[in-house]
Amino acid sequence: MTSESVARTVARDRRPGEGGPASARRYVNLWTEAEALGPERVSAFVLILRTRGCYWADLKGCSMCGYAKDTLGRSATPEELAEQLARAVDRYRGEPYVKLYTSGSFLDDREVDPASREAIVAAFSGRARRLLVETLPEFATPERLEPLRRAFAGELEIALGLESTDPGVLARLVHKNAPPSEYLAAADRIRARGLRAKAYLLLKPPYLTEAEAADDVVRSVEVAAPHFDALSINPVHIQNGTVVEWLYHRRRYRPPWLWSLVDALARGATLRGDARLVSFPTAGGLPRGPHNCGRCDRDVLRAIETASLDQAFDGLEGLDCGCRAEWETTRRLEPLGVEA
Ligand code: SF4
Ligand SMILES: [Zn+2]
Repeated sequence: MTSESVARTVARDRRPGEGGPASARRYVNLWTEAEALGPERVSAFVLILRTRGCYWADLKGCSMCGYAKDTLGRSATPEELAEQLARAVDRYRGEPYVKLYTSGSFLDDREVDPASREAIVAAFSGRARRLLVETLPEFATPERLEPLRRAFAGELEIALGLESTDPGVLARLVHKNAPPSEYLAAADRIRARGLRAKAYLLLKPPYLTEAEAADDVVRSVEVAAPHFDALSINPVHIQNGTVVEWLYHRRRYRPPWLWSLVDALARGATLRGDARLVSFPTAGGLPRGPHNCGRCDRDVLRAIETASLDQAFDGLEGLDCGCRAEWETTRRLEPLGVEA
């Protein structure tokens, strides 16, 4: 099977059913997590709204993304979105940083209509100091950004899932809908309006070796840094119904080693310019997430979190474990087609 046909098979299997009225009135998930605003550590309120989901996931979808399962398969009505918001605001305790996701693009009218967008953002205005929403680059237009800027009395941060600045990696391995240049141009438009731009960069798309993956994300840090205020390295974790899961079940994909993430952060820290560089891995230390040997994972993850929050990467240098030698052997032998 070619990577194209794997992608089409997987996309067919992952589509959600028609969402019922009960699920449409409930957000997908909500939690708080450690974050930082400049040098200050703060608590962040993270909310995932249930919408029709990412239009690209219906057409092809990205090789590591299984978010379509959390969507309605149809547009949520303004009333349903208002009810999701009301339930979430009930649980909001004034966290200074608010992150809003939709399993797609907050700025796509088919997911969140313009009036609902303004109402959602306004609900946190005067309470949160910074509010983040995520979108594909084509929706980051002045017409969509300006009303949100007016509705929120604080810093508005627009996050883009850039993943890689290598056009070949992005198109053939990640299966994104647009080339990196469109993401960089969108970031420039966002910053031109006085808003913050944040990029998510992917560590280890399928079909790259461990060493190639680290090099790819380090290059991406260097190329993206002048366009963004913050860069977040997301190591792949295996989500249901994705190309990487298809490969994982056939022993053709291993999530990245945490050592690769440590290596990427240490090298990226010297190339990031004025941008913040962070990583808060999902499913860290688990078999389907980025992991080492199991003995050192917790310590390594804690060091990565501290480095990300404090923007101090020196602490990563002192990390060690017996499994580091195995990781280094993998990096040497993998390009030769030999298993470590
Ligand atoms: S990663 Fe983003 S663009 Fe790609 S399918 Fe998922 S939500 Fe859509
Ligand atoms: Zn170890």
